[in-house]
Amino acid sequence: MLSADRLEWVGGWGEVLGGAGYVFRPSTLQGIRAAFGEAEAGGVPVALRGAGCSYGDAALRAESVVLDLSRMDRILSWDSDTGIIEVEPGVTLRRLWRFVLGDGWWPPVVTGTMETSVGGCLGMNVHGKNNWARGPFGEHCLEFDLMTADGELRTVRRDEDRELFNAVVGSFGMLGVITRARMQMKRVVSGFIEAKAVSAPDLETLLRLTDEAKDQWEYVVGWIDAFARGRKLGRGLLHFARHLEPGEDAEPRQTLRAEAQDLPEDVLMMPKSAMWRLLKPFTNRSGMKWINRLKYLSGATLGEGAVYRQTFAEFSFLLDYVPNWKRIYRPGGLIQHQSFVPVDQAEAVFRRQLEACQKARQPSFLGVLKRHRPDDFLMGHGLDGFSLALDFPVHPRRQDRLWGLVRTMAEDVVDAGGRFYAAKDAAIPGELYRASFREEQVERLLALKAELDPGAVLRTALGDRLLGK
Ligand SMILES: Cc1cc2nc3c(=O)[nH]c(=O)nc-3n(C[C@H](O)[C@H](O)[C@H](O)COP(=O)(O)OP(=O)(O)OC[C@H]3O[C@@H](n4cnc5c(N)ncnc54)[C@H](O)[C@@H]3O)c2cc1C
Repeated sequence: MLSADRLEWVGGWGEVLGGAGYVFRPSTLQGIRAAFGEAEAGGVPVALRGAGCSYGDAALRAESVVLDLSRMDRILSWDSDTGIIEVEPGVTLRRLWRFVLGDGWWPPVVTGTMETSVGGCLGMNVHGKNNWARGPFGEHCLEFDLMTADGELRTVRRDEDRELFNAVVGSFGMLGVITRARMQMKRVVSGFIEAKAVSAPDLETLLRLTDEAKDQWEYVVGWIDAFARGRKLGRGLLHFARHLEPGEDAEPRQTLRAEAQDLPEDVLMMPKSAMWRLLKPFTNRSGMKWINRLKYLSGATLGEGAVYRQTFAEFSFLLDYVPNWKRIYRPGGLIQHQSFVPVDQAEAVFRRQLEACQKARQPSFLGVLKRHRPDDFLMGHGLDGFSLALDFPVHPRRQDRLWGLVRTMAEDVVDAGGRFYAAKDAAIPGELYRASFREEQVERLLALKAELDPGAVLRTALGDRLLGK
């Protein structure tokens, strides 16, 4: 019998989906086994959770054991000559980069927030602003330990067990618990990057400039003003960045210190912890329309062509600048829809997405563009194309309409041979998600699931929705 003392509300990061679960926070392998034992005795499934940064229902399930791995956060070994680190799954990217930077290393792939955990990053096979160049997070993992629901532990090496490795990474915690990961860091010679800001007056230019930049820069990310219409549809700002070469930083010892990377405490002379309160009154259609417009116009005039140096943390973790910014979306919360579309279809599909949002009077408050490449993970979302991530506020009374809009956009993506990013998703119907893969990919995942977890112990609300119960 599971104790009611363990019941907690477990929500998605976007504060839309959630449910009460029996939360276990083990700090040892024995603790994980004990949680599986209690779930079995209580007759409920187990949902894995890292830092809980997935927007929707990926790391939760109501009336289940929620195995929160954030306390398994030890750094097990570090070789500063080779840049190979072994960590437990709860180590966050914040902890990781702060640990390795002083020795001249940096995680080759990072997310827009540093609060994600290594286990969650492998579970979703996250991508960075350099996805077309470095691939997803899993490409920099050399091996991991996997505990299956029966408590068995096995080591899975990328070179020796390629099929299982490529299936577990990105299969959102459906096959087992990653309890240890061995990762390769990237060599860096300075804590600064050189960045350049460029504006694009329309979608076609935005996509073209992104594509051209990828041969010269390590990182490229675009922001789209999703309110702009007509000829200006899809206009936006691009930021390119590259690591410095040896000799370009006069004081590398200083800039490679973790403390030198700390994000500023104030933004526009305000304590950043208070910023979300300032933004809250503008979090509606007309306020966001003006914020997007001003952002574009100031970028296209004052910022146009500017080349500047920034710390890695400033460039990489832009979304951490304003702590708790998601609170501007309360009480309804937010969802994101991130679709990946092949190069030749991207302009047409994204144009239709932006127009559909405007027509439905549900324009995205924040649109982000990235460039990607294919990878060989079983459930990979990468392809030779672009992704557009669109944030939407959720108003409970209009939720059905928003879910309908996501469905319309998703159907178009599937027709164009595109994919979706499950970590950000809350609303895609399972049949469309499955249709974005070749049939044999989903079948292979389900076959592995039946082999490694025959009792279907590992389940999340996302897994139930996308793969079927
Ligand atoms: C502000 C913000 C910015 C973001 N930017 C990006 C970005 O730039 N690129 C990007 O790709 N994503 C981005 N994300 C999404 C985020 O990176 C993913 O949702 C990631 O999976 C979150 O990691 P987590 O540790 O919070 O995992 P959780 O959300 O807790 O879990 C993610 C999945 O992994 C599974 N899982 C967790 N731990 C383990 C484990 N030890 N073993 C096996 N499975 C496990 C869970 O069951 C779940 O399905 C962003 C999210 C936020 C909130």
